[in-house]
Amino acid sequence: MLEGLANSLQRALAKLKAKGKLTEEDVQEAMREVRLALLAADVNVKVVKDFVERVRARAIGQEVQQSLTPGQQVVKIVYEELTELMGGSQTRLRMAPHPPTVVMMVGLQGSGKTTTTAKLALSFRRHQHRPLMVAADVYRPAAIRQLEVLGRQIDVPVFSLGEGEDPVRIAEAGVAEARRMGADVVLIDTAGRTHVDEALMQELERMQAQVHPDEVLLVVDAMMGQDAVHVAEAFHTRLGVTGVVLTKLDSDTRGGAALTIRAVTGCPIKFVGMGEKIEPLEAFHPDRLASRILG
Ligand code: GDP
Repeated sequence: MLEGLANSLQRALAKLKAKGKLTEEDVQEAMREVRLALLAADVNVKVVKDFVERVRARAIGQEVQQSLTPGQQVVKIVYEELTELMGGSQTRLRMAPHPPTVVMMVGLQGSGKTTTTAKLALSFRRHQHRPLMVAADVYRPAAIRQLEVLGRQIDVPVFSLGEGEDPVRIAEAGVAEARRMGADVVLIDTAGRTHVDEALMQELERMQAQVHPDEVLLVVDAMMGQDAVHVAEAFHTRLGVTGVVLTKLDSDTRGGAALTIRAVTGCPIKFVGMGEKIEPLEAFHPDRLASRILG
């Protein structure tokens, strides 16, 4: 995961770790390499600039810790700033005080929305919840059937009204059905488009106004790099996204989205998608990813 970035950052910092004493030039040189490594990973230019500036300022005026060499201290600062960049600590889902908790899953077609909906449903089921999945993706051919198949596979009920229905009506009816059957979490798989467009946003806004979701989770494909960040900004502006699920982190992605989305949009990454198989969704831990990247 993010191997290119991990290798180049570790290489940039290895030289510092080896030194007993650091000059300001040593730090400058390492920061130049850190900057290049982040840019090569497709991290937003401004995010990189601010990041390197913060590390440099702390590294040069660094507080002395007896247990660490100056080089190790710089590595620690990079680790802390990387963690902070990705959101600090884990951000959990907001659950409704009076069930059912309603979660709208939004995102572009192909981002992994349907797969992620099933993974999240499975996570809830494993934690003794009673989820219901609602198939409101009426535009992508076979999306409804895909969700029904996944539902059977993980033993989670699926509510649908078919492809000819208004997605907002499906969502409303789905929440009503959850109440009737005593489901405590409703996961609405909304329609995506191949790109952000006005019709999609209006439909999602109408749905949001009707079902009052506790969470609006945006599913984005990490392989999209900076484009994922633009997609996140567009959805967040219109819907007030409460959390991001970054999918395909198992693939050969450079890492730009993971490192930039939080800083640019302010939306926390709550989960990551790590494969095509339906397994419980993995919570996103910024500190763990930072330590994997830094080795
Ligand atoms: P939707 O159009 O957004 O509902 O997308 P789908 O859920 O149908 O997923 C699109 C493709 O991405 C499918 O082939 C999924 O198996 C794949 N996919 C989804 N999540 C992941 C992930 O975390 N990792 C990988 N490698 N593939 C994924």
